[in-house]
Amino acid sequence: MQHFGQPAYRAAQLAEWLYQKRAQTWQGMTDLPRPLRERLASEFSLPKMEIVRVLGSQDTTRKFLFRLGDGSLIESVLIPASPALYGEKSDRQTICISTQVGCAYGCKFCASGLDGFSRNLTTNEIVDQVIEVERAAGDRIDNIVFMGMGEPLANLNNLLAAIRIINAPWGLGIGARHITVSTSGLAPQIRKLADEPLQIRLAISLHGASDAVRSRIMPVNRRYNVETLLSACDYYVSRKKQRLTFEYILIAGVNDADEEAHLLGRHARRLSAKVNLIPYNTVEGLEWSRPSRSRQEQFLAILKEHNVSATLRREKGHDIAAACGQLRLQTKRTEETLAG
Ligand code: SAH
Ligand code: SF4
Repeated sequence: MQHFGQPAYRAAQLAEWLYQKRAQTWQGMTDLPRPLRERLASEFSLPKMEIVRVLGSQDTTRKFLFRLGDGSLIESVLIPASPALYGEKSDRQTICISTQVGCAYGCKFCASGLDGFSRNLTTNEIVDQVIEVERAAGDRIDNIVFMGMGEPLANLNNLLAAIRIINAPWGLGIGARHITVSTSGLAPQIRKLADEPLQIRLAISLHGASDAVRSRIMPVNRRYNVETLLSACDYYVSRKKQRLTFEYILIAGVNDADEEAHLLGRHARRLSAKVNLIPYNTVEGLEWSRPSRSRQEQFLAILKEHNVSATLRREKGHDIAAACGQLRLQTKRTEETLAG
């Protein structure tokens, strides 16, 4: 607004149109002077992300597939009334959003990495997932988890800019404690995040407690091994009030042995971290599967022996390909098949 020779309060008016009233045209911003509206319209666009598919129903997990301006596909998942996995109350709507098109980290069990990495999402593409899903659902979202496609900490600047807009009173006004970022373990960026004043929650996708197991399924572990990651986490918790969460997908015969549970228990104790155990969601084309229910319970019991606060997820959305990147992959494959 300064650049346009406008008084500073115009910025507040504009933010209100964009984030509270959610105007879809510049012309609709009726308390801005007409010449300013015309200038904004000629220099900026108000892109709307196109929702190409919605899976699921009103009262269960709903998955939204978006097509971006350049044709890229990304997805967001709306999870109503999820149990208190990340410390929030249970009567809340949670949205799981993406930060990149594809993912460069290539975890062996994950659909998002299967097609490689295309690009980072822009700040507005991150924020717009929340706005468009609220619009489509006709409801407010209370919690945000950055657990969709992509590695959030590999797109740190756009992520932080988006979180500031989502968190700001002039933006979407969602409290920092209702925002959870999940990372596959980029140790230097975890340290950077620790130095940010934001009180967001952090979840670490551990999925293996020893280097041998973790390196087998997460190539990132060869760059930042378990001890490098845990010491970045030590630094994080020394700077923040919140407890960390370790996410641990249970994959049969890969990371579900008793020894891994004991080691995970010790890591969690060291950091006073919570553990979320997530039975693996099968991905088409991948050989992995979840352990039996009794193996899952046994793994949980070992964590409890270590006095770790741990939950075993009865996750929602299994039936609608809700795990990370799966809907996009299905749609891309169908489109490729149709295109011959
Ligand atoms: N890149 C970040 C955030 C996106 S992935 C990260 O890895 O943390 C969000 C979570 O979904 C991660 O914990 C990831 O390991 C998990 N995930 C990926 N594929 C899955 C699958 N098939 N079943 C269950 N969880 C999966
Ligand atoms: Fe990327 Fe996360 Fe999937 Fe690993 S689990 S490939 S880091 S999106």
